[in-house]
Amino acid sequence: MKPMKKKLTAALAGNPNSGKTTLFNELTGSRQHVGNYPGVTVERKEGSCRYGGVELQIVDLPGSYSLTAYSAEEWVARNFIVNEKPDVVVDILDASNLERNLYLAVQLMELGAPLVLVFNMSDMARARGFEFDLEKLSRFFGAQIVETVGHKGVGIKELLSAAVTTAQQNGSGGTRPFVLDYGREIEAELSKITALIQAHGRVKGNYSARWLAVKLLENDKELKASVAAPEVHEQAARSAERIEKITGETPETVMAGRRYGYISGACQEAVRSTIEIRRTISDRIDSVATNRVLGLPVFLGLMYLVFQLTFTVGDPFMGWIEKAFGWLGGMVEGWWPEGSGSLLKSLLVDGVIGGVGGVVVFLPNILLLFLAIAILEDSGYMARAAFIMDRLMHKIGLHGKSFIPMLIGFGCSVPAIMATRTLENRRDRLATMLVAPLMSCGARLPIYALIIPAFFPEAWHAPMLWIIYLIGILLAVVSAKMLRSTLLRGESVPFVMELPPYRMPTLKGILIHMGERGGLYLRKAGTIILGLSIVLWAMTAFPRLPEEEVAHFEAARQAVAAGMATEQEKVESLAAIGNEEGEAALKHSIAGRVGYAMEPILKPMGFDWRIGTALIGAFAAKEVFVAQMGIVYSVGEADEESETLRDKLKSAYNPLIGFCIMLFCLVSAPCMATIAVTKRESNSWRWALFQLAGLTALAWALTVLVYQIGRAGGIGS
Ligand code: GDP
Ligand code: MG
Repeated sequence: MKPMKKKLTAALAGNPNSGKTTLFNELTGSRQHVGNYPGVTVERKEGSCRYGGVELQIVDLPGSYSLTAYSAEEWVARNFIVNEKPDVVVDILDASNLERNLYLAVQLMELGAPLVLVFNMSDMARARGFEFDLEKLSRFFGAQIVETVGHKGVGIKELLSAAVTTAQQNGSGGTRPFVLDYGREIEAELSKITALIQAHGRVKGNYSARWLAVKLLENDKELKASVAAPEVHEQAARSAERIEKITGETPETVMAGRRYGYISGACQEAVRSTIEIRRTISDRIDSVATNRVLGLPVFLGLMYLVFQLTFTVGDPFMGWIEKAFGWLGGMVEGWWPEGSGSLLKSLLVDGVIGGVGGVVVFLPNILLLFLAIAILEDSGYMARAAFIMDRLMHKIGLHGKSFIPMLIGFGCSVPAIMATRTLENRRDRLATMLVAPLMSCGARLPIYALIIPAFFPEAWHAPMLWIIYLIGILLAVVSAKMLRSTLLRGESVPFVMELPPYRMPTLKGILIHMGERGGLYLRKAGTIILGLSIVLWAMTAFPRLPEEEVAHFEAARQAVAAGMATEQEKVESLAAIGNEEGEAALKHSIAGRVGYAMEPILKPMGFDWRIGTALIGAFAAKEVFVAQMGIVYSVGEADEESETLRDKLKSAYNPLIGFCIMLFCLVSAPCMATIAVTKRESNSWRWALFQLAGLTALAWALTVLVYQIGRAGGIGS
């Protein structure tokens, strides 16, 4: 007998939404490490825990319904099990939806993976009246079965014990792959292919010849590419053709049917339902939430509530942060004598505190928005939103699945573009990728949060934000449609949306989501935005006004001081001179010159050179727009008036311009990171540059249109 291993690897597999991440968190606590799988950008989460003197390394595989490698997630999950040979595969199942979840289990068994089945959501299964004969099921599926309630931590010890014993048995003897009987016809073909595979060299991977034969018959592209012998391919093609002739269906469909048949048989034997199938609470909620007529208004209404929450609850917190940064700025300013022109002072107060502070102020709004999104997601409502949009998108000839990456785009365009991997059709995928940045991401929120309260009355805050987001969704859908009927014309693939049952979101889950977001935002503020703020500050501070001009302003000041005017008049004239000098210095700086050079294209949108310089920064990261406005409006300032940036904007621009700024920032080229991801995911600079140029041109045209019409209509003047 081999010695017991002290260090074991366990892979967590399972369908999306089966509670994998919840259990992973329960198991590993804070000992986690997040990275990426090599080659693809699917997240790889790892953690560890100890049980009975054994160190268990746990990997959270991406959620997948099968091992057919349709999507990047399934591909990653399969390759991990095949190549990295974990000591045990722990398959997490949603026990309240057992038959569907067992499909993956059957495939894992066929692969010969040492398996433990975890019946998670056993609380829900019980509530629905299911009773499992675990002993029988365990025999049918050749694996230990453990019941758990993930978010309550029930059954974790049992899970660990089963995983460790299975892993150790695996180490000392190995499991033989389970052989599913595919029926006479298919079995005959399978043995022909298997024989040829064995005759033409060994099977390279960690699987049996039969498994490879099954996959070849299923037309698995990746594995097909791994087989060199043409004889094998020819046989597989002949076999597939024969099966199709006999059954009238593809081998893939027939074989999936057999797997489900096995599951259904096992469940009939070993699962009992004590309650008549009744309308569940989920069904009742869905009769409203996904109702043909009410569905869309409910979705729009919920979105509206989310924005209402973002603003109203966030406001007081924002005020506090604003005050804190104001106090900090004042304190730092106090280190220098009054009226000092020190560059270091300007760098610290205007550049660092003004820039970073301007962005950090919006942390409460960001947290609240993501709190709301996390609740909608964890409860299962987001799947309904996708379902409703799917119906709509289908009507206009778009793929409904596109809306899922788009929803992710509310957070950040980068993961949204990566999520387009779930779309199998390349045209659908490209179209979705190109328009995804139109969904307003979290980084644009600070811009809206700055502009909206500056120009619109309180009652209009939430509605304005809602309108901006809706414009984004609408533009995304319309542009996708246009792309699909021009550059990316072609058939679209039918697709069935699934609706997981509603769940009460857990506080822990929501806090984790929110914390991740907030941390990300703060980290961005402390790194990219801090760096860019300093660069942009330097651009606004240099080159400095030439001596003679400074002398000229100085002379003017002297003249006022020596003049006959009253004290009051003197103060006013001095302030006016200070402002003039600030303005002249800004215009002399690099930022001012770049802004001026851009004025011809900015003017038709109602923007001045100040907004222009901020827009350049915004391309690096959208939040920088806010930071740069803060810098521009504090560098040019004569005395330390404690006017907020909002007040300054209010006196410099009008509501129409405010709206145009938001519109332009919403539609125009997303940040550099997004363009880079589009390049990587589309594997072409052409598409990335097309996105960059296309969105910017669209933004310009739309903003000019809105500004010119608005001005002609006398709005904002
Ligand atoms: P994943 O997609 O498989 O990673 O699923 P998650 O771990 O994100 O879980 C999805 C949702 O199910 C979360 O809201 C969890 O709180 C919830 N959940 C997880 N385990 C259970 C359980 O055993 N019972 C119930 N009722 N809910 C659970
Ligand atoms: Mg997960």
